[in-house]
Amino acid sequence: MDDPTGTSIEIHGGVRVIGGTKVLISTARARVLLDIGEDIPGEADLLRESTRVREGHGLADRLRLGAAPRIAGLFAPEELRAVGPGAQDVQALAAEDPRPLVVILSHAHIDHDGLLAHLRPEVRVLAHPETIALHRALEEAGATTPGTAARLTPIEEGEDVAVADLAVTVHRVDHDVRGAIGTIVRAPDGALAYTGDVNLHREDGVHTRAFLEAARGADVLVCETTMLSFDPPPLEPRSEEVIARVVTEALAGSEDLMLLSAYERDVDRAALLVRAAADARRTLVWPGRHAAVLTAMGIGGVVTWDGTRPQSGSQRRAGELAAGRERSAARTVGIDEVLESPDRFLVQIDPEDFTSLLDLPLGPTSAWIHSQGEPLGPFMRDWDVWQDWLERFGLATVPAGSSGHAGPLALREIVERIAPARVIALHGFHPERLEVDGVRTVLPEIGVPIPLREVGTR
Ligand SMILES: [Zn+2]
Repeated sequence: MDDPTGTSIEIHGGVRVIGGTKVLISTARARVLLDIGEDIPGEADLLRESTRVREGHGLADRLRLGAAPRIAGLFAPEELRAVGPGAQDVQALAAEDPRPLVVILSHAHIDHDGLLAHLRPEVRVLAHPETIALHRALEEAGATTPGTAARLTPIEEGEDVAVADLAVTVHRVDHDVRGAIGTIVRAPDGALAYTGDVNLHREDGVHTRAFLEAARGADVLVCETTMLSFDPPPLEPRSEEVIARVVTEALAGSEDLMLLSAYERDVDRAALLVRAAADARRTLVWPGRHAAVLTAMGIGGVVTWDGTRPQSGSQRRAGELAAGRERSAARTVGIDEVLESPDRFLVQIDPEDFTSLLDLPLGPTSAWIHSQGEPLGPFMRDWDVWQDWLERFGLATVPAGSSGHAGPLALREIVERIAPARVIALHGFHPERLEVDGVRTVLPEIGVPIPLREVGTR
């Protein structure tokens, strides 16, 4: 063995919080970083909405607040300019590390990719081709930082990528976004598997199960634990078939206009909602940004507003883009059509423009169908004001969501199938609840190295 110290694992985010997982795997010759998302703070988030992110200082400020990973040689030096207390520690991270460094993105969610724009240009970032396609679509629609898609290099399912003495393979997993992957990293002294964000209930978990098979026997599993965070423990999430039924029934039960919240990034759920609306003889109308992302991802039957309904400038531009595409272009409807026959439509709300509800013909049986999408829940800043809008218009809420994360039973099954010696539990408020017979649960601290191979087990 050419590495006497052995492979080490450092966790740089996702510790006792939902999201922000970053796993650094290092040998004497190479480094691989799994995910580079924005940190979700466990305490008060000092950078939450209404705090202005300072142009050109966003990363340095995050680093000083403990909201970005302190990994030397990862970030572009010009992103690390700072003055005042702690500035030197931030600037010291510009020091180059001679070892090659490759970042793997598990999926296109901001808590896994949000710091992408700050990386050193020579750091290679690998992602599934569908993740890259989604990044392109989001960028074009003005829904993410410009220039990030161009940073991504495709890694195909099952392809072996060598980074000096580390070998990386990725496998699709089921989450709530296309292109989500689980990763296996093989080192000279052992193997590590990383779930990313994962479930077993979308498409019956067919992709996830193939990943579990490939990862079987890994020494260490790094596993998300989102659904162990809540009291009482949640039931296993509903399948997409159930969601479709709930939505169709809610639509059939109303004689008025219906409202919706769903995520444009979950393009498969969006396609399901388009079909569910059609089954109930309604047309689902999306804001421009949603329509631009969905049409770019090849979803058919997308409808957006024409110029007769007021939308913000960025929504309007994105809508024009969606309507002008050569393939799977969005159809447009005018506000007059909706005013004439409200019961023939389902309207996705613009989460940045609650006031636009005033344009819509709401009636006594109108309701809001919540199928994920913002405002997502009471932990979001805009939740309370949205509840006030719902009350003002007498709108009931129809819960029609289903988490993209594995339920408590599925999480246990994931660990059992891989059967590692140790599981590093992350990405949840209560990682200690991940308990599986014969597997030791490791609760990491930020930046404290964990050996891949335990002393005495070689
Ligand atoms: Zn996540």
